[in-house]
Amino acid sequence: MHRVQDDARIIIFRSRLRAGVDAVYAERADAMLKIAESMPGFVSSADFVSDDGERLALMEFDSPEHLRKWRVHDQHRATQAEGRAAWYDAYTLQVCAVLRESTFDRRKDAAELPPVNKGPLPTVTAEGGCACGALRYRVMGPVVASTLCHCADCRRACGATPVGWLTLARSGFTWLAGTPKRRASSPPVVRDFCGDCGAQLVYVSEEEPEYIDVTLGSLDDPDLVPPRAHIWTSSKAAWLHLRDELWRFPRGLRDGKAERYSEGRLP
Ligand SMILES: [Zn+2]
Ligand SMILES: [Zn+2]
Repeated sequence: MHRVQDDARIIIFRSRLRAGVDAVYAERADAMLKIAESMPGFVSSADFVSDDGERLALMEFDSPEHLRKWRVHDQHRATQAEGRAAWYDAYTLQVCAVLRESTFDRRKDAAELPPVNKGPLPTVTAEGGCACGALRYRVMGPVVASTLCHCADCRRACGATPVGWLTLARSGFTWLAGTPKRRASSPPVVRDFCGDCGAQLVYVSEEEPEYIDVTLGSLDDPDLVPPRAHIWTSSKAAWLHLRDELWRFPRGLRDGKAERYSEGRLP
């Protein structure tokens, strides 16, 4: 959910073929894709042909270094040379950095996440508020996630680590009393907190406008929905040794690269 720029590189390859070379091209493209998929750092690829014959191929690697290895791969280079001699009419290749990424996948809701402990998340009606009582809120609806976030932004905003978050549909959130102060965190994220006592209550990101997070610690009942996963463990404080059985996500919950604690393999 909390996502930042990374080193990923996207190759955009637009090409046009000469007449009558489709079969040999398809065969070589297939062989190249098999090699690319076996390279370290390969993330994804896609291929399209437009009505006017222009082909668009996209390929993603997780770092400039892994992209370089693909670029200089012997067989890849040989096939490119063959292509210029035998089947390309013209092409343009661009390598792009990922400045920001936002994803949506209807199927990747809580039910599709790793089976983090004991069954589906509950539907709740609950209230919470800040330390001085000036701010009060209510949350209603199905819980999407309950996590402990180790990211540096949460750590600094709350002066504590990790920070527990309950994620729900934004439509299920209501302020009952008071007006929070709002701070732009790492854009497009904003955090709402109490201007009097400083308690952090709410996290919202315009990249995920359908969701809102409230701090587990600000709920009247902090045991309402125990956390199911650690997120952003790549930013975890080194002195904190996790020994629970929660899933661990090096980055956000939707990155999907989770692993589970097992004895003798502490992070
Ligand atoms: Zn307060
Ligand atoms: Zn965070």
